[in-house]
Amino acid sequence: MADNVELTGAALLIDALQENGLNNMYGVVGIPVTDLARLAQLKGMKYYGFRREDAAVNAAAAAGFLTGKPGVALTVSAPGFLNGLTALAQATKNCFPLIMISGSSDRHVIDLDRGDYEGLDQYNVAKPFCKAAYRVDRAQDIGLAVALAVRTALSGRPGGVYLDLPAATVSDTVNKKSDTKIYQVVDPAPKQLPTDTAIDRAVKLLKAAKQPIILLGKGAAYARSESEVRELVAKTKIPFLPMSMAKGVVPDDSQFSAASARSFSLGQADVVILIGARLNWMLANGESPLFRDDAQFIQIDIDATEFDSNRMIQAPLQGDIKSVLQKLIPALEKDNVTAPQDWLDQIKQHCEVNNTKFAQRIEEAKERASLGFYSAIEPIDELMKEHPDTYLVSEGANTLDIGRNLIGMQQPRHRLDTGTWGVMGIGLGYAIAASVETGKPVIALEGDSAFGFDGMEMETICRYKLPIIVVIINNGGIYRGDINVVNSQPGPTVLDHEAHYGDIAKAFGGDSYRVSNYSEMKAALQKAYKNGRPAIIDAQIPASMGAESGHIGNLNPELDLSQL
Ligand code: ADP
Ligand code: MG
Repeated sequence: MADNVELTGAALLIDALQENGLNNMYGVVGIPVTDLARLAQLKGMKYYGFRREDAAVNAAAAAGFLTGKPGVALTVSAPGFLNGLTALAQATKNCFPLIMISGSSDRHVIDLDRGDYEGLDQYNVAKPFCKAAYRVDRAQDIGLAVALAVRTALSGRPGGVYLDLPAATVSDTVNKKSDTKIYQVVDPAPKQLPTDTAIDRAVKLLKAAKQPIILLGKGAAYARSESEVRELVAKTKIPFLPMSMAKGVVPDDSQFSAASARSFSLGQADVVILIGARLNWMLANGESPLFRDDAQFIQIDIDATEFDSNRMIQAPLQGDIKSVLQKLIPALEKDNVTAPQDWLDQIKQHCEVNNTKFAQRIEEAKERASLGFYSAIEPIDELMKEHPDTYLVSEGANTLDIGRNLIGMQQPRHRLDTGTWGVMGIGLGYAIAASVETGKPVIALEGDSAFGFDGMEMETICRYKLPIIVVIINNGGIYRGDINVVNSQPGPTVLDHEAHYGDIAKAFGGDSYRVSNYSEMKAALQKAYKNGRPAIIDAQIPASMGAESGHIGNLNPELDLSQL
């Protein structure tokens, strides 16, 4: 390129993203970023246009988790930015690397509060909701801003970064290529290793353990540590439990899985090894009765401030999981650390009892003439066994809970769900990213309520002709659809139980199925999978099925509704 060519901020942004291997962008365009997205396509990036910003930003977040590079999202100013902000916050909570870029108003209008079209001080609004926010006021700084955003999103604990792009910077020009400072970030997530002393501490603890257990979190999946984690389990025979998005790091059907004896094995464990999992609400904040009061903890995490955040961590191991395990495994081997056989036998016994009960429950459900959660979801497990490279996205209350237990995963990073906040509305955005980033078929298993948050993205799925099968378990409500409290209005949890959700797929050229028992569900799923086209499978189950708040009813304050 000649030295005197004028380069716009928009062009530089695209060059800088591509220089860092970021070639997909998920967004919703409008003022002031419409031409920026066009230019991205012209310059060879893939731009995926959504119907709402939160779904687009969710897609970028999922892309970050799946690829280990920051996903890139694009929104317009103020309301578009705010719609995207929930997903930016969520990505940060989930430790997914993401760069959300929003067009914004120019500072001289915003800072004097003169009133602008969609005017908001986005840069300052974003700060508490992401790992870091940066604003680029001059086109010549864009290379640096992108490098900083990539570095921040990926290094240490990954998370969301906000990049504020004032309209003036989009069209601002630099006329010398040499002034643009565009470069590829070197080693964006440097390896980190604990000291020998820290390793020894963990080995000693495990050597003395009578009832050790490994708890795998989505950090282990993100860290691409599956070969090390599998080696750890195989060599030490320590049983493991996966958090939902860690399913598949070690295959669910491994003989060392304690998943069918979860509360027994956690409740009895004397030493717990946390690998990329936080002791947050999902693990009762590390408290009893889920854990023993005298249980001791080894925790592997990239972020040292995570240690002691909920209870004492006797052996903290700060570092990236892959490197830590590469150092820990030989040390354990040297000391012949393995789980005692009687502990394995106890867990096995509990698993067998529970597995028998569970299998019986599934068999009964399959034979019933009508459809319920089990008979609607079991065919997905059967399909995943045949095609373990299929991606699964899941959300809902009971749909999520039951699907988590029912659907086995064989491969890492193939399950995406409601994550650290347990939030609804991630389903179709995550499914779109899984399909775009991997090229594999995707099943999005949705409760009818969860689907409602981003259902319009069915149009996006159809427009890009993605092989995504959306399964909607329709019990006509949030949790369940049969509780009315006054005669004059539907109850607060009630949704349309008679809805024909499949028609939404049809409206955009996708396929539609409606099923009413196990064998119809099985046949529809197999057919939709074979066709490889966008589809909705509408699985209506009774409105009375479903526990309020699913498995976390304890978090929902119950009032005495007779006391007005
Ligand atoms: P889950 O919800 O599955 O229990 P969390 O999201 O609570 O998992 O925990 C993930 C943890 O993994 C976070 O504390 C995060 O700091 C950590 N983490 C993420 N990436 C890495 C990595 N490469 N190495 C070590 N720890 C990591
Ligand atoms: Mg429902």
